[in-house]
Parts: sequence; C-alpha cells; structure tokens
Amino acid sequence: MPTYNYACDACGHSFEREQRISEDPIKKCPKCGKAKARRMISAGNFILKGGGWYSDGYGSGGGKPDGGSSGGSSSSGSSD
Ligand SMILES: [Zn+2]
Repeated sequence: MPTYNYACDACGHSFEREQRISEDPIKKCPKCGKAKARRMISAGNFILKGGGWYSDGYGSGGGKPDGGSSGGSSSSGSSD
C-alpha cells in the first residue's frame, strides 16, 4: 500500500496517509478540518519521463553486419 503525502492549503499542515491506489484522495485536513488537503506527488514513488520517446528509424530494413573484412579468421573450437 503506497503512502501519499498531503499538504493543506489552509493551514499548511503536511501529513502522510497510507491508501490504496483505488481509494480517493483525502481532502479533509486532520489539523484544521478544512477540505483543503491536496495530495502531493513525490518523485520517489513516480517516475516521470519528460516526453522523450526514442524515435529511431527501426524497421527501415537494410544494413547487415559486416564481419571479417581483414584479419585472421581463426575460429577456435569445435566446428561441426
Ligand atoms: Zn489544514
């Protein structure tokens, strides 16, 4: 069960609550009682990637690995 950090906009009180992901976020501040609590996103629990998807041209085809252009082709081992 993840722990969420909350901060109250009214009194500035911050607290933590263990909640299920499916549960709704708490709105009521336990200190002042006002519905000004907001759930904070901590960087430790979430991995935020800044929209930088790789756009390499995979699937274009072509380009086979060239091996053994110059040098000794001594394959050690049992070649069957
Ligand atoms: Zn409060």
